[in-house]
Amino acid sequence: MERPLDRRTCHSTHGRCAAAAAKDPTPCEGPHEAATIVDRHGAEVAGCVHHCARLLAGLEGGRVHPFVPACHALDIYSRARELPPFAWEIGK
Ligand SMILES: [Zn+2]
Repeated sequence: MERPLDRRTCHSTHGRCAAAAAKDPTPCEGPHEAATIVDRHGAEVAGCVHHCARLLAGLEGGRVHPFVPACHALDIYSRARELPPFAWEIGK
């Protein structure tokens, strides 16, 4: 069953996608399971486009899961290129 969107949780650290780092204060952007990131060991985490990009930027050997639609994958790769690793640690 779908739960209605709770706007109060959108800008807090709660109720974010699984790809959002605990120390990253930024809110999610779009659906919480827009994409899946795979690390070099094969572990997968689903998240929004925004947090997948931030995660990927600091994840050595990480990649977007091949099942992710190309438009989302390209968006994530191009955003990750512009981001420093662990962007939130330097206030970005
Ligand atoms: Zn997110």
